[in-house]
Amino acid sequence: MTVSPASVVLPDGRSVCALGQGTWFMGESPDRAQDEIRSLQAGLDAGLALIDTAEMYADGGAEEIVGRAIAGRRDEVFLVSKVLPEHASRHGTAAACEDSLRRLKTDTLDLYLLHWRGRHRLSDTVEAMEALQREGKIRAWGVSNLDMNDMQELLGVPGGSQVQVNQVLYNLGRRGIEFDLQPWCAQRGVAIMAYSPLEQGRLLDSPALNTVAQRHGVTPAAVALAWTMRLPGVISIPKTASLARLRDNLASLTLTLSPEDLGTLDAAFPAPTRSQPLEIL
Ligand code: NDP
Repeated sequence: MTVSPASVVLPDGRSVCALGQGTWFMGESPDRAQDEIRSLQAGLDAGLALIDTAEMYADGGAEEIVGRAIAGRRDEVFLVSKVLPEHASRHGTAAACEDSLRRLKTDTLDLYLLHWRGRHRLSDTVEAMEALQREGKIRAWGVSNLDMNDMQELLGVPGGSQVQVNQVLYNLGRRGIEFDLQPWCAQRGVAIMAYSPLEQGRLLDSPALNTVAQRHGVTPAAVALAWTMRLPGVISIPKTASLARLRDNLASLTLTLSPEDLGTLDAAFPAPTRSQPLEIL
């Protein structure tokens, strides 16, 4: 099961597949560990190189699962992890990164994100990210859950323009970023990583999604994911620990939504008509 993923080019020139793999809620139960590892490995086999994790998930347990899944094949993976805001000081970021690298059993991250904004100054976090980059512990850095004003502030901080991605909540039911944040990022080449692209599964019984899915003979999940990736510069990172669902999700990579499909989806999930605060899960 190999597909040729659509790709997104990051500001630093690296190209990543537009469909990645999420890991929230992985590593919480030893009973599920084998399924989680198998699913991540099957995703890698299919070309889904980007794996998104965080020190927060299962208190490091998700990173340990990822470490087991990528053992012996690190060079196939585009590895993303995140530092918690309370750790995102100059020294705390460096220490948190060391802990993540140990759990992931690797010596470098492809991308390290600030998980959301907390009490530490953005300039301190950026300085820490730059130091990690110089030391080779991370190849690049980005942010998550930063709204327009935070992104503007970030770009004003020394080194802030090196931000590669903003990972935000984006799916059919959460279209707010289309009004301003997504076009703003697109103009500056900052990639969007769409988290919870299936709204954690809650979107999937939508009649509109099901109508479009039937037209193409795919699942509603495939349609929901293809919809997030229809915009250039958007990477979608669904989480699954099931091989069958992984196959459904892979179908999104070869699905092209027609104007009729987009119209059906727009009618059920209207595009934003004004600016709204960034939603967070
Ligand atoms: P998703 O929208 O990816 O949904 C995941 C849920 O949907 C799981 O319960 C999964 O179950 C199920 N699912 C997956 N594929 C299918 C399918 N084809 N059909 C039916 N159900 C399916 O939600 P997440 O919140 O997990 O978001 C994705 C990733 O984004 C996270 O795992 C995490 O890496 C990241 N994230 C980042 C956040 C941030 O603040 N930066 C916040 C939230 C998420 P099963 O495993 O059983 O298949």
